[in-house]
Amino acid sequence: MYEKANKDKLDFIQKGLKDYSSQRNYDFGPNSRENISNLSKYISHRIINEYDLIREILSQYNFQKVDKFIQEVFWRVYWKGWLEHRPDVWKDFVNSTPNYHEEDYKRAINGETGIECFDDWVNELKTENYLHNHTRMWFASIWIFTLNLPWELGARFFMKYLFDGDAASNTLSWRWVAGIQTQGKNYIARESNIRKFTNQRYMNTALNENASPLENHKIYSIKEVKELHTKQKYKNIVLFESDLNLSQRFSFFKNYKNVFLLLLDNENRNIKLSKKVLDFKNALLEAFAKEISNSQIINEDGFNKLNEEFDVIYPSVGENMDFLNRKIKNSSKLHYIGLKEDIFCWQFSKKGFFNFKKNIPEVINYLLHEDDLFN
Ligand SMILES: Cc1cc2nc3c(=O)[nH]c(=O)nc-3n(C[C@H](O)[C@H](O)[C@H](O)COP(=O)(O)OP(=O)(O)OC[C@H]3O[C@@H](n4cnc5c(N)ncnc54)[C@H](O)[C@@H]3O)c2cc1C
Repeated sequence: MYEKANKDKLDFIQKGLKDYSSQRNYDFGPNSRENISNLSKYISHRIINEYDLIREILSQYNFQKVDKFIQEVFWRVYWKGWLEHRPDVWKDFVNSTPNYHEEDYKRAINGETGIECFDDWVNELKTENYLHNHTRMWFASIWIFTLNLPWELGARFFMKYLFDGDAASNTLSWRWVAGIQTQGKNYIARESNIRKFTNQRYMNTALNENASPLENHKIYSIKEVKELHTKQKYKNIVLFESDLNLSQRFSFFKNYKNVFLLLLDNENRNIKLSKKVLDFKNALLEAFAKEISNSQIINEDGFNKLNEEFDVIYPSVGENMDFLNRKIKNSSKLHYIGLKEDIFCWQFSKKGFFNFKKNIPEVINYLLHEDDLFN
């Protein structure tokens, strides 16, 4: 899996990257994905580390030639940092119980709405476990404003089927489309836009193009992010599938007596995942275990038998962190291992993306020149 990810990455850097900025908004269909990287299933599990990817690209291209792509990767970094500062947004999402019309919901998740593009995307999501970014925006907008379904159910539906399902990128993008992330500004899917950027595959789609943003006036105060360490403290370490980065930690893991890999089953998840997504995550863990000889995959029982003297690769806000919070009395006291790059970037994630973007030159300077990044 690491090899395949590396090959896909190199292919994209050589072929797709140069036209990314002009072509990326087109969804040419599931059999034609050369205009985008299709790396999200690796990046979201850190099989490819986003900072390594940026460094690799900038070793070959001038920033101005690839700024759009790098900016997109930073959207992921930004969303993660934003949610780290406001974990209650995730908590409220997973605990929400919105009202909805059962028949409408069933029609939507079965791809039987009669809106041709939407129904096709439902099937594509279930079979390919992926949707193009522009399509995700249209999909979410149609779900919320034409089908009048709660955004929370759409976000859950995405998480169930996406190989790249990510607590931060998914939840916050759905909130953004709904108009509650950037308050008062919703994303409206338009027939003309869908027609143009699907290369005329979908025409005459009747949509509600005049919808107002949803309202949610709850203010989330900014919390301190968890303290992350870069040095080993205990003999054993636990990690989850949300960060399987090896590039920076290959020798780091070798210093441990045991590296325990834990994949939560659906009983331990608020949002139940499809079998294909769980199988995919399991395959990623197996790939990791193949590389690191002192590692072993454990289940919840195995985890319960560990004493509390272990390090943890910080799993970020999401299901894995919720599991730790449930299992460990004082989970904030655990010795969390994190990346220096995350710690640096997340300081710019407290406000909007515009503010983060202003700091991208400083971030890049840090990524390329910080001397003790890997110590
Ligand atoms: C409603 C909605 C839900 C989404 N849910 C997820 C999710 O669960 N997981 C996820 O990884 N992305 C999510 N995204 C963001 C984006 O759609 C995907 O990251 C992208 O489509 C993945 O395809 P790619 O790898 O070819 O991306 P590229 O266009 O090739 O971009 C390269 C990388 O940059 C990052 N990236 C690109 N665009 C975004 C973005 N808008 N936000 C955050 N990161 C981005 C991804 O890591 C991606 O792999 C969502 C977007 C929307 C609108």
